[in-house]
Amino acid sequence: MCNLMSQTPSFEQPETVFVDDHKVSCDGGNGALGHPLVWYEMGKDDVIECKYCDRRFVRKGGAHDPDDEQ
Ligand SMILES: [Zn+2]
Repeated sequence: MCNLMSQTPSFEQPETVFVDDHKVSCDGGNGALGHPLVWYEMGKDDVIECKYCDRRFVRKGGAHDPDDEQ
């Protein structure tokens, strides 16, 4: 069987979250990565990284949205 893609790395990969607005909140989600709720304002950017948990927030339809091909 070839299941290399489903192997879990030994550390948590930062998550990418797609959002509709350029103002986002993050509390780290559940689990060990939780942190106090913080708000981020992307401003003129379409992507921002949470300084606590390294999650990436990408605005839908922005330049960094890989699904924006239409
Ligand atoms: Zn966070």
